[in-house]
Amino acid sequence: MTKINKNIFKAAWSYDEAPESTEHVQIKKQYDLYIDGKFVKPSKGKYFATFNPSDHKEIAKVAEATKEDVDKAVKAANRAFKGWSELSGKERGKYIFRIARLIQERAREFSVIESLDGGKPIRESRDIDIPLAANHFFYYAGWADKLEYAFPNRKPKPVGVAGQIIPWNFPLLMAAWKLAPALATGNTVVLKPAETTPLTALKLAEIIHESGIPKGVVNIITGAGETGAAIVNHPNVDKIAFTGSTGVGKYIQKATAGTNKKLTLELGGKGANIIFEDAAIDQAVEGIVNAIFFNQGHVCCAGSRLFVQESVADLVIEKLKRRMETLIVGNPLDKNTDIGAINSKKQLQTIENYIKIGLNEGGEIYQPNCKFPKNGNWCAPTLFINVSQSHRIVQEEIFGPVLAIQTFRTIDEVVEKANNTPFGLSAGVWTEKGSKIFHMTQKLNAGIVWANTFNKFDATSPFGGYKESGFGREGGLHGLKPYVKFE
Ligand code: ADP
Repeated sequence: MTKINKNIFKAAWSYDEAPESTEHVQIKKQYDLYIDGKFVKPSKGKYFATFNPSDHKEIAKVAEATKEDVDKAVKAANRAFKGWSELSGKERGKYIFRIARLIQERAREFSVIESLDGGKPIRESRDIDIPLAANHFFYYAGWADKLEYAFPNRKPKPVGVAGQIIPWNFPLLMAAWKLAPALATGNTVVLKPAETTPLTALKLAEIIHESGIPKGVVNIITGAGETGAAIVNHPNVDKIAFTGSTGVGKYIQKATAGTNKKLTLELGGKGANIIFEDAAIDQAVEGIVNAIFFNQGHVCCAGSRLFVQESVADLVIEKLKRRMETLIVGNPLDKNTDIGAINSKKQLQTIENYIKIGLNEGGEIYQPNCKFPKNGNWCAPTLFINVSQSHRIVQEEIFGPVLAIQTFRTIDEVVEKANNTPFGLSAGVWTEKGSKIFHMTQKLNAGIVWANTFNKFDATSPFGGYKESGFGREGGLHGLKPYVKFE
């Protein structure tokens, strides 16, 4: 087996702090609900705080929307539907293009707010979340006047009012994934961001307002689970699009059963990242890091199960450990940071609990020596070896920077292991053989299979799952379908 020269890792680089400035960012002390083209106070006058997960300081207060507020928003969306759906695709497209351009213009501000409110490294919000969000609006703006080509020989009609509920891991990006196709196809929307990361959605509301889009077409309301449930249960909502935990997804599926509501669910995952012995090992190690430590592992399609072919397992694990020693955990606003803050105290507890479970079940843990800032929610990048299929950390979604590593000998074995999960969202295959890639993509039960890369997103390409990872696709031509009906 190839031995690696350990000295090459010793000369680790150290970096001076390089914090992104926050001076250009405007955050209000308190945000209201965006309903019917206006920012309005919540009916019960209640507000809740959103905190910076890297220092626990309050950033702003946001409104808690009650059932009555949800009703107001749905009614506004209902009233706006006729005008918006009858507008020509070209006109609708103009507004959506305008939103895309406004996001680009204010990309720096959005990036900083995303990192402040959610804890993700500024490098990721700046280079991934915000550009991709703009990209989604650009892409679907282009479809708005071409729907007859998207569905040849059929006449697509908008569904009506879409209730959209999004999670805290990619706040602005998920808002874009939901809003852009809904608007392009002529639907009106009530959108609710997650309670721990509402700020970029509220900034987006300001931009949407600036775009001049007719009032009531987009309504953005804040609140927690109860507000979400009120959207799901509202009789005049015609379509629910939900991204979040499998538990809440199951609840929503029950709540909408027997109604006429269309439903798409993008839920949890336990992605298999598979390294064959013929893979380019150094690239694969980078790919493993990106698969599980990107966005602190708060990624439904994260490569949280690693399968390494036995002949290269020692080499891969050793290189991975060395690489993990160089990862910088800390201030999300520092441009050198690789792993930011865990989104909430609650999520940190969940992750820490899973780490305990892994240890109690006999897993062997490795964590590099990380220096954490004083306050805030921090978790070191973590890997477990000596685990098997029945371990809970192999079966259950942790949604944190925790990787479970197993080995395999044959293709059939790894296919069986990779598919042995209730989820079916993502997988990755690392090999130099194209034929092996095609074989694996046929065999893996996953909505997305990446080859020699991981966690790559693109507005033009469909994203979604099988089994308990949900159903329906977002992105690409496929992403239009949940928002149209045919006569
Ligand atoms: P997590 O558990 O990972 O925080 P959730 O699935 O609870 O993720 O949250 C995703 C989104 O679903 C959030 O916007 C949250 O407020 C919302 N939500 C939570 N509970 C419900 C519910 N019962 N009905 C509708 N939406 C809900």
